Amino acid sequence: MPFRSGFVAIVGRPNAGKSTLVNTLVGRKVAIVSPRPQTTRNRIQAILNRDDAQIVLIDTPGIHKAENVLGHQMMAEAARALQGIDLLSLIVDATSKFGAGDRFSLQWIKRFTGPVFLLLNKVDRVSKPLLLPLIDRYRQRFDFAEIFPISALRGEGCSDLVNAWVARLPEAPPYFPPDQFTDQPERFLVAELVREQAIHATRQEVPHAVAVLIDRFEEKTDLIKIRATIYIERQGQKGILIGKGGETIKKIGTLARREIESILGAHVFLELFVKVQPNWRQNATLVHQLDWHRQLEQLAKIEQEETGG
Ligand code: GDP
Ligand code: MG
Repeated sequence: MPFRSGFVAIVGRPNAGKSTLVNTLVGRKVAIVSPRPQTTRNRIQAILNRDDAQIVLIDTPGIHKAENVLGHQMMAEAARALQGIDLLSLIVDATSKFGAGDRFSLQWIKRFTGPVFLLLNKVDRVSKPLLLPLIDRYRQRFDFAEIFPISALRGEGCSDLVNAWVARLPEAPPYFPPDQFTDQPERFLVAELVREQAIHATRQEVPHAVAVLIDRFEEKTDLIKIRATIYIERQGQKGILIGKGGETIKKIGTLARREIESILGAHVFLELFVKVQPNWRQNATLVHQLDWHRQLEQLAKIEQEETGG
């Protein structure tokens, strides 16, 4: 049997279930999931390995109209995700009404010339008779290569979907070693895990305003020492994040540390700081700092300078 490999981008509106699908397919957590929209800020590659194939999945930020610097960067990421990919999959929330955002998505996918799959997600919450008209509606508006009703949460329809992807990938050797499940730098994963716990712990108003930067990542023989700063926009949010007697920040730290330990497979000492940075989402420098592609470029530059190259 020939080995197939290639790149599959998953696009869709915020909250459609992109991160959930990626995590289900890869069988572990690589993308953070949240009931609130727009928690995925960077392009994330997850890698699905089979004996006969390797699929590199790209989980893009949600398609939406850009409103601030962060929004623009997210849209630029989504557009970048279309370069060099083999298949595109549009994922939609089958439980929500078809609206302007869906029309925008349908316009958006036209810029891709290869095969486009439609994934109708959350079918665990939709009755079958309602699915058919929805499928018709999408079919009339775009010539999808294939349409799959799935439940990313429960895994329903997911193995059929993966088989269909594989069938359309080119014959090629794998791009990554088979034991690798993501190309994200560990630092970025750690920042995302801290951000996820901060979002879960605070519920109200805070989520969109949270950004996490790793200040220190030191690998010792028996543990990894990590220092991270959580940026928020207002003093009031700082109070919420820290909580009574530091209760909330302590909980965030404990839960994040456990997740980080299980993913990195090492003991972790995690120190968290909270900083108020008014309007960071309008601040191009900080938004740039949060982009890990850029962080990688900077790291490469530093290494080059250090080795005198
Ligand atoms: P993203 O913004 O597209 O990455 O969406 P997420 O993966 O973060 O999911 C958004 C919300 O939808 C979360 O609360 C998920 O638990 C929920 N969700 C995702 N997939 C399914 C599904 O198949 N069924 C149901 N019932 N909920 C889902
Ligand atoms: Mg997401």
